[in-house]
Amino acid sequence: MLSRLSRRNRQEENIPQEGDLYARIEHGGRTFDLYYGYYEECDRQNPLVRPVPLYPDFLAHPQYDNEGYPFATEMQDACPYYVGNLKDDGCYACEHYRQLIDFIGICTCAVRRIETEE
Ligand code: SF4
Repeated sequence: MLSRLSRRNRQEENIPQEGDLYARIEHGGRTFDLYYGYYEECDRQNPLVRPVPLYPDFLAHPQYDNEGYPFATEMQDACPYYVGNLKDDGCYACEHYRQLIDFIGICTCAVRRIETEE
C-alpha cells in the first residue's frame, strides 16, 4: 500500500519512474537509449530512493562508433592506457576521453580503437 501511494505521489509530482526514457544518445552511427532505474535491488525497495539514469557498462559490453573508437563513461575505471595525473578518478580525467553528452564520451586512444569496414 505504501509503495502504491508513493508511486502515485511521484507520478503526480512528475518525478521520473523506473523505465522512463532519460535520454537518447546518437553518435558515430550508434544510438543508446538511457532509462531511469536502480543499480541495486535494495534501492528499488526503498521508497525514499528515486530512480536514476542508468548508464551502459561499456567495460562489460564494449560498443564502438563507426570509426572504431570505443564508447566510455566518465565514471568508468581507467584502463592501462590512461594518460593523465588522476588515474584513480577514471576515464573523465584521461586525456583520451572526449565527452559527447552527459556522462558518455568516446575514448580516442589509438590502441583501444578497432578496425572497421568503413
Ligand atoms: S584510454 Fe580510454 S578507456 Fe583508457 S582511461 Fe583513457 S579514456 Fe578511459
